[in-house]
Amino acid sequence: MKSKQKSIWVFGDYRNYYQNRVTLQLISKAVDLARMIQAEVCALVFGHEIDEWIMEYTAHGADRILAIDDPALKSYSTERYLAIIEKLAKERDPEIILIGATDFGREFAPRLAKRLKTGLSADCVGLDITEEGLLLQIAPSFGGNMLAEIITERHRPQMATVRPGTFKEMPHNYNRKALVERLPLMKNLPEPRVRLVEYKRSAEREHSIESAAVIVCGGRGMGNKNNFNRLHELAKLLGGGVGATRPVIYAGWADHVALVGQAGKHIKPKILFSFGISGAIQHTAGLGEADFIVAINKNPQATMMKMADVAIVADASDVLNTLIKELKKRIRE
Ligand SMILES: Cc1cc2nc3c(=O)[nH]c(=O)nc-3n(C[C@H](O)[C@H](O)[C@H](O)COP(=O)(O)OP(=O)(O)OC[C@H]3O[C@@H](n4cnc5c(N)ncnc54)[C@H](O)[C@@H]3O)c2cc1C
Repeated sequence: MKSKQKSIWVFGDYRNYYQNRVTLQLISKAVDLARMIQAEVCALVFGHEIDEWIMEYTAHGADRILAIDDPALKSYSTERYLAIIEKLAKERDPEIILIGATDFGREFAPRLAKRLKTGLSADCVGLDITEEGLLLQIAPSFGGNMLAEIITERHRPQMATVRPGTFKEMPHNYNRKALVERLPLMKNLPEPRVRLVEYKRSAEREHSIESAAVIVCGGRGMGNKNNFNRLHELAKLLGGGVGATRPVIYAGWADHVALVGQAGKHIKPKILFSFGISGAIQHTAGLGEADFIVAINKNPQATMMKMADVAIVADASDVLNTLIKELKKRIRE
């Protein structure tokens, strides 16, 4: 008897450029994993007028696309997407389902795992295949002080959400071909309990820091909201984005989208300025891929100062103001 083809599913979250990058990163990782367990990579694309995404996921490595193109799926709906994936997963029995740890992914992945009666490792920072052919899910635990290696031994599918920026997307190849299955919209889908009236992106979200080459990050040492806001001025002059630590978010000086670290974004700038940040492990967990770090802190013993390529012992606002002044002067010259 012919054995069933194993499949790794990647949920296509293409709502905007950044979420789409996560999907591409996951497809790339799925290609690696698929090689190790002789599986195919299958991207799920639901929505309306989705041909662009079918092409993009094919070009980035998917072997198969499960697509449903219908006006009823124009806007994201947890209830509808859940019902669709639950039905498809029960019919087709994928080995693994990977979902980006985006706001939407974080919302629907646990619900899907519950419906499929399987486990889910949330916010993974690494994936591999064990000698036994199981998905090794590497996720921070105990407040980020440890990395746990998790396997789902008995239940299927093996499910994980993965942080944006964890893997690199592979280069596209628009000559690649995938098997595209265009499926009809299922009958009796639940009515969404939430109706999307308008979609507006906040200015801060427009400048997501996940792919910024220059990031100016501020911590509690900035002292107050006015001082913190000046970081935006520096970021603008440098063509970069602004990141923040958790106390800054809690104090209301910045939006949650700016949070860098274990509970926030993983960043990979070419240069990172770190103003008034101690360097707690939960924050530095998000800095692994920064190429060059300049830290400014009053305390030379702060962990962030020890991690930095250049450490400036000074008042954060003084250095910030000087930098802004000097850059403006140079731009005028
Ligand atoms: C489960 C969990 C998850 C977490 N996730 C995250 C996360 O994702 N991201 C995150 O950032 N945190 C996270 N935290 C919080 C984290 O543990 C730290 O509390 C936080 O990162 C500290 O932020 P900070 O460096 O701004 O503040 P502090 O630790 O208070 O450091 C302030 C620094 O500013 C310096 N300073 C003070 N005044 C000045 C001045 N005038 N000029 C220059 N330097 C000055 C001080 O010397 C100090 O080093 C998490 C915590 C837990 C328990």
